Amino acid sequence: KARFDKVTKRFGTGDNAVQALEPISLDIAENAFVCLVGPSGCGKSTLLNILAGFEKPTTGQALMDGTPVRGPDPRRGVVFQQGALFTWMSVRDNVAFGPLATGKPSAEAGRIADRYLEMVGLTAFAKRYPYELSGGMQQRVGIARALANDPEILLMDEPFAALDAQTRELLQEEIKRIWQSTRKTVLWITHSIEEALFLATDIVVMSARPGRIKARLAPQFALSEDPAVV
Ligand code: ATP
Ligand code: MG
Repeated sequence: KARFDKVTKRFGTGDNAVQALEPISLDIAENAFVCLVGPSGCGKSTLLNILAGFEKPTTGQALMDGTPVRGPDPRRGVVFQQGALFTWMSVRDNVAFGPLATGKPSAEAGRIADRYLEMVGLTAFAKRYPYELSGGMQQRVGIARALANDPEILLMDEPFAALDAQTRELLQEEIKRIWQSTRKTVLWITHSIEEALFLATDIVVMSARPGRIKARLAPQFALSEDPAVV
């Protein structure tokens, strides 16, 4: 479904050049929940941004269903670390924005927004503005907004990094429940191996300088209803 085909990335030129990614080939199966882990600077964000269409690979290409990625597209839903909501729009309008932008009538866009706000537990906050919400709630809105575009894949670069431990744990459980009900394909970057073990169907481990894939693991119990059963 999603595929990296011998992707390399080099930033800058001459003496200042940084080889961020060695040739990386990786398949992300439909309905997989892939966690990308590895040390700071190993190229995780670069890889995700190439699939998102924010960065162009130096050589090789990222593909969705065989079609090369040329630029950003709402069919690849991106959830940022924080602060990517429209501050001047209500929570509901933030989530309805994508469906409206792709030509849905406003009543239908509103219904879609309501459905995903319910999924992330924020129905009561629909009329609020982002600044009135906690960081965890804002991340929930970001997730609802990405889902409202009915993306083929969700791309999340350390979406919970800015949250306190308790909120993070709560949202991990929520995201797992959402994934179990939607079976969206997910590419998820995290520094937490525990988070990866809890969420992932596949864990891809990268190593640094220059970035390459070191291992790919399938956590045996990641899909268990009770993660304590190990
Ligand atoms: P972290 O865990 O800290 O987020 P990461 O694995 O996401 O790290 P990247 O942000 O992908 O790492 O960076 C990989 C390498 O590419 C690093 O050496 C970084 O300095 C370099 N790099 C990333 N973006 C740019 C850029 N726009 N210009 C120049 N160098 C960059
Ligand atoms: Mg990063």
